[in-house]
Amino acid sequence: MAQENLEAVLNDLHCKYKSLQDGAVANYIPELAKVNPDLFSICVVTVDGEVYQVGDDKQLFTIQSISKVFAYGLALEDHGRDYVLTRVGVEPTGDAFNAIILDEQSNRPLNPMVNAGAIATTSLIKGSGPTERLNRMLNMFSRYMGHDVFVDMSVFTSERSTGHRNRAMAHLMLNFGMIDRNIEESLDLYFQQCAVMVNCYDLAVMAATLANKGINPITKDRAVDSSYIKDILSVMYTCGMYNFAGEWAYKIGIPAKSGVCGGIIAIVPNKMGIGVFSPRLDARGNSVRGVKVCEEVSQELGLHLFECSRNNSKVQPFCN
Ligand code: GLN
Repeated sequence: MAQENLEAVLNDLHCKYKSLQDGAVANYIPELAKVNPDLFSICVVTVDGEVYQVGDDKQLFTIQSISKVFAYGLALEDHGRDYVLTRVGVEPTGDAFNAIILDEQSNRPLNPMVNAGAIATTSLIKGSGPTERLNRMLNMFSRYMGHDVFVDMSVFTSERSTGHRNRAMAHLMLNFGMIDRNIEESLDLYFQQCAVMVNCYDLAVMAATLANKGINPITKDRAVDSSYIKDILSVMYTCGMYNFAGEWAYKIGIPAKSGVCGGIIAIVPNKMGIGVFSPRLDARGNSVRGVKVCEEVSQELGLHLFECSRNNSKVQPFCN
C-alpha cells in the first residue's frame, strides 16, 4: 500500500468518526471519568518503522487492560508456557471483562485478557519484592515503547481504593490456590500496570513490536522472546476484545486488545501495528470509534487474516 494511501485512509477515518459521540467514558474508576471524551487519535507503525498518525497523538492516558497482553508475555518469559497454562487458561469467556468466574474443573481463570486471568498472570511476575517486580514490569514496557515509562499515581490510587471487584477475584483465586498468599502485592502491581501512561503512538509502536516478532521497529531492541509471540497473538485473537472477541475475529480478523481507557491495539503480523484512542466505550468496554476505525482499516486494506478474495500480496500473510 502506498504511503499516501494509508495516510489518506487514516485522515478520512478521523474526519468521518470525529463527530461520532456514541458511548460513555469509563467511570467505575473515578479518576478515569475526568478524561475529555472527545479525544481521538489513530496511529499506524509498520514493521519497517514508518509512522502514520492523525489526531491527538501526544495525549497521554493510562494503558489499562491493553497492559494484559504485555504482562502475559513477561509471565511466559518468567515461567514458560506449560507452567503459565496451569495458572491461567486460554478459553474465551463470552462474559464481561470483569466477570467473577473461574473454570469449574481446573479453577483457573479462563484467559489472561480478562481481569481475573490478568491478576493471576501479574501474580506470576518474578522479583524479590514489590519494587523489583514493578521495575521489571516497567522495564518490559520501556522495551516495547522505546522510552522510560511512568505510572499515573492518581489513576493507580483511584483504582486501588475502589477496585473491590478485582480484590474479590484475587481472593477467590487465593481460595483455590491459583495465586499465592501475597495478593495485595500482586493487586498493587496489577493496578500499577494498568496505570502505565502511554499515548496513541506508543500503542502503535507496541503493537508493531508484536507484529515484528518481538523487535521494536523503531529502536530495533528486542522486547519479548519471539517464541512467545504466537501465544500472545493467539489469546489476543480469541479473547482480546472480551465478549466481542468472536464478532471482532469474524469481521476484523486480526489480533487485538482494548482497554477501558478507550485504547485499542491491533496487530497485522509481519506488517504493522495499529493504535486507536477514543475514550467513549460501548457496553462491552470497547472504544466505539476504535472499533469502527479498525473495522474500516481492516476492510480498506484487506487485513483480515483469512481474506483471500483480494490480490494484494503486501497485506495478506495468510494467502501468500
Ligand atoms: N484496570 C481496569 C480493571 O481492572 C482494566 C479493565 C479494562 O481496561 N477493561 O478494571
